[in-house]
Amino acid sequence: MPSYISQYFNLISDSTIIAAIFMFGASIGSFLNVCIYRIPKDESIVFPGSFCPACETPIPFYLNIPIISFIILRGKCRNCRKSISFRYPIVEFITAMFAVATFLKFGLTVESLFWFSFIAVLIVISFIDFDLQIIPDILSIPGIFIFALSSVVIPEMTIKDTLLGIVMGGGSLYLVAVSYYLIRKDEGMGGGDIKLLAMIGAAIGWKGVAFTIFASSLLGTVAGIIIMIITRKADSKLRIPFGPYLAAASLIYIFKGESLISWYFSILS
Ligand SMILES: [Zn+2]
Repeated sequence: MPSYISQYFNLISDSTIIAAIFMFGASIGSFLNVCIYRIPKDESIVFPGSFCPACETPIPFYLNIPIISFIILRGKCRNCRKSISFRYPIVEFITAMFAVATFLKFGLTVESLFWFSFIAVLIVISFIDFDLQIIPDILSIPGIFIFALSSVVIPEMTIKDTLLGIVMGGGSLYLVAVSYYLIRKDEGMGGGDIKLLAMIGAAIGWKGVAFTIFASSLLGTVAGIIIMIITRKADSKLRIPFGPYLAAASLIYIFKGESLISWYFSILS
């Protein structure tokens, strides 16, 4: 077979794999929507199946295709015609993009599965924290133990990295919380953030935690300034959930951490 033809077939099979992984990610995203909505209410994430939040009519499986159903139904429930939140397809799309990004970086490996599970938990935590300013212990505490498996699954990680990550992640924010409390007599940093950073530390180790603290503060400061400019309020007591920044920073570390760190040190030297 001439090489341009085999290249053509390679291209088709590559894009088929990526499309399949995108749809797989979107379906997981659909499940994450259920988790975001039900975990804070202590409801089962398995039963019952999906239903319309407004009229509680069950959504049949053929109308529950991630992203596509939302577009076909133009964002409305087929029964009561109430608008369905834009958040649902957005969560599905974000999850799908991360599935593709994970595949492109790590291939079809156990490593990929590990990082994608970690990302999925971070997506759920971020949206719950954004909505309700809480990070459920039921996600972060088992997460510390589950993601400590990084020392087994991820080649660069050792058990020492993982343990130091947990201690540094939990300990550093604990110190921040205690000193904030001593100075302001007020709880600025939630206990949820402490357990979340311990979970992140379990997955990405102490170097990752150092990067995450640095990058999340930077992201938080930039976002805080933008929010202050938009709302024209300089309310320092405005409770901005910090979980999404910690999650975003740790994801930057997984995908771009090494190149960012060497770039940073190349500027310094
Ligand atoms: Zn409805």
